[in-house]
Amino acid sequence: MRLILLGPPGAGKGTQAQRLVKQHGIVQLSTGDMLRAAVAAGTPIGQKAKDIMARGELVPDDVVIAIIADRIDQPDAKAGFVLDGFPRTVPQAQALDRLLADRGLMLDAVVELKVNEGILIKRIENRVAEMTARGEKVRADDNPEVLAGRLAAYRAQTAPLADYYAGHGALRSVDGMAAIDRVTAFIDRILAPAQPRKTARTAVRRKQAGGAKAKPKRTKAKSARAKASRPKSKKAKSAPRRGSAGKAKARNKASKTGRSALHKNKSAGRQSTARRRLTKRR
Ligand code: ADP
Repeated sequence: MRLILLGPPGAGKGTQAQRLVKQHGIVQLSTGDMLRAAVAAGTPIGQKAKDIMARGELVPDDVVIAIIADRIDQPDAKAGFVLDGFPRTVPQAQALDRLLADRGLMLDAVVELKVNEGILIKRIENRVAEMTARGEKVRADDNPEVLAGRLAAYRAQTAPLADYYAGHGALRSVDGMAAIDRVTAFIDRILAPAQPRKTARTAVRRKQAGGAKAKPKRTKAKSARAKASRPKSKKAKSAPRRGSAGKAKARNKASKTGRSALHKNKSAGRQSTARRRLTKRR
């Protein structure tokens, strides 16, 4: 499984990514974490990224694209990955498309966590307070001034990705303001493979009958006996057989409504199937 989590800072991408890792046995590829590790290790990339990150701006595209290109080729990413914090610009998304296409890989979903900005600031303040209480080192960019810059960068450079992926038909949005478990449940529903339309009862019946093919065949004689013993329906008795005039009348009626009865039934069937699917997803 390969997916992208989109959303502004503090939307909960990291939390949901960790849950997806556990559930699906995939790896979390967080460019933020990788860059922070590079900064901590003092690598050339880290040195380049350090001040940019501290200001809440975005690290140049070519730097993060190179990191991701290298990371998705690692053996542990073969089973799948959840991208958290990448792509963050349209050129990054285009580069990712090329990276995946070159490797014959496809994305399963792009999940956008929709959140209210006012609440994000509160969430980050809480995160900082919790980390401080646990004695953990607080991120250099987790303070009100830098956060404002990170949100501005998100609005200007990352938010357009929702349209980019919506255009590809891959975008699925979930309410990131809901409780953590509920957000996880929304994402699970998006990722669940379409269930075959077989009810549990049908499955049991089939099993008892020894599989679908074990349905007893009707012999010609049996069918004839069954037909003879079936009571004739009232309709069959009373409805006069339509002559060609009757058929023409019916055709006329159908053409006046613009659709034949068959089409009407077909489209009604289609509508209800689509509605059923939507209801299932919700
Ligand atoms: P956030 O919680 O703001 O989403 P991240 O941990 O994902 O933060 O990223 C922290 C910082 O690392 C960003 O503000 C940015 O400077 C840099 N960064 C992370 N991912 C990218 C990326 N894909 N492109 C450019 N810069 C990035």
